[in-house]
Amino acid sequence: MQRHLLLCLAAATAVAACQRQPAATTAPAAAPAATAAHTFSPAIDAGDFVEHVKVLSSDAFEGRGPGTPGEDKSVEYIKAQMQRIGLKPGNKGEWFQTVPMVETTADPNTTLTLTVDGKPRTLKMGDDMVVATTSGKPEIAIKDSPLVFVGYGVNAPEQHWNDYAGLDVKGKTVVMLVNDPGFHVNDPNLFEGKRMTYYGRWTYKFEEAAREGASAALIIHDTPGASYGWEVVKNSWSGAQYALPAASDPDPRLPAQGWLTGAQAQSLFADSGLDLDALRTAASKRGFKPVPMKATLTLDLKSSIVDKQSRNVIGRLDGSTHPDEAMVYMAHWDHLGKHPDEPGDNIYNGAVDNATGVSGILEIADAFAHQTPPPQRSLLFVAVTLEESGLLGSKYYVAHPVVPLDKTVGVINLDALGVDGKTRDLTVVGMGSSQLEDVLKDIAGKQGLTLHAEAHPEAGGYFRSDHFNFAKAGVPALDIGSGDDLVQGGTAAGEAAGKDYNEHRYHKPGDQYDAATWHVEGVIELLDAAYGVGRELTSSEQWPQWYPNSPFKAAREAMMAGKPATAPAP
Ligand SMILES: [Zn+2]
Repeated sequence: MQRHLLLCLAAATAVAACQRQPAATTAPAAAPAATAAHTFSPAIDAGDFVEHVKVLSSDAFEGRGPGTPGEDKSVEYIKAQMQRIGLKPGNKGEWFQTVPMVETTADPNTTLTLTVDGKPRTLKMGDDMVVATTSGKPEIAIKDSPLVFVGYGVNAPEQHWNDYAGLDVKGKTVVMLVNDPGFHVNDPNLFEGKRMTYYGRWTYKFEEAAREGASAALIIHDTPGASYGWEVVKNSWSGAQYALPAASDPDPRLPAQGWLTGAQAQSLFADSGLDLDALRTAASKRGFKPVPMKATLTLDLKSSIVDKQSRNVIGRLDGSTHPDEAMVYMAHWDHLGKHPDEPGDNIYNGAVDNATGVSGILEIADAFAHQTPPPQRSLLFVAVTLEESGLLGSKYYVAHPVVPLDKTVGVINLDALGVDGKTRDLTVVGMGSSQLEDVLKDIAGKQGLTLHAEAHPEAGGYFRSDHFNFAKAGVPALDIGSGDDLVQGGTAAGEAAGKDYNEHRYHKPGDQYDAATWHVEGVIELLDAAYGVGRELTSSEQWPQWYPNSPFKAAREAMMAGKPATAPAP
């Protein structure tokens, strides 16, 4: 639904435009207690849920900015609650997993030179292009790198599509289109038609270009394809950018990556004797061949680099018969912190985003800890950091899992749950991904809830929250959101409530707990369903699988090779 379009990486570009700068963490504060006199029940309970939300989103927690005193309070509260529930520290005897990160700020006066037929043209940062490095290097110098147009920059074996076939891009700069062929042609039989696939995400395009060994990659912006205008690209790529250090992330990095405005691309192609519109059409057909351009790129990119860190919190419940296999529940604890330079209320409390998700996994943990009979497989409850800075806490976890990924049955992510009352439905973001949805459908059906996809699948919501890092690595991942068919008022009321949240509270100081307007009955039903999926999977030997058309299926099959893979019973 609408809310899920925007949550949680608002701008859908390198990082959210509203992120703040994490600083080095300070000494841990004393563990903050829940509000005096609240007695927790050993079940999924509305009063308990609200209690967690009130504490986590209180002004005392300062908007839960990574690297601030709000981080210390947040991680200590989550740890204290996990201890109360009876979980064990999940990271080799520790509650916390340190997440290192690199903050990179490119010189705003950076220019990029594209030379066609000996004639240089200088592109300005922000107005004509954006460019950045995630290499962690303060200086990147690229000289006369030949440009090659690689269509959509997609290498998708299960789609029998490879824009890089037969091409050696070492030392070259690849230029490519945003989104995927199915989107631009609007053919439901090509990729997934209007619904954005993984290959349509700009992040994928840079990752693939890095795997191919290119020196630089530039995406040509167009508003329908990106689902946002150039201003969003410009704003999101100015100022500090965050990444994991190369040493803690196995993925290859491009020395330089960025975007060109549509207008700059049009004239670059025209000067090179190429017709961009005709090439766009050609690139949308199977068998497209990359086109070398009579142009080169020269770039001297200077950036300031600062090393920082934050923490994931991990609690564990051991399974009774298969403790080595685990189901994961995840929610990001971080939010946007406090903005002292702004007048008035400048604490971004993040009550919906994402105190609700953290409270949700704590309540689910409580239910599992008191379940009879106890779960046979283990459970991990992972409160990740740095979601708002680019899904970094979950990315780090996946690169350093505490249960091996081939022993991880699946993951359920909770991010920004709706508090508008009881619904007749639940939202599955990226519906049509894996058999986890079959399990959820069965459980939700017994609760009288239907499932539906998010309202705008062309925006690629499935690729914008923490579960995506598990998916990319091959672990089946489910993002469950609140439904919008409200029992009181139906879909119209639900959509209106979502729109109201997006306009007035999303990523604003007004995202606060409000006893007068919050109705958590729908959230509790969602948590019951989310718990039910894990209960089913931790009391069986099922290994839910990706559906056959999934781009993540191959990664799961590779890691599971030689192991029994049992699908859920029909
Ligand atoms: Zn969020």
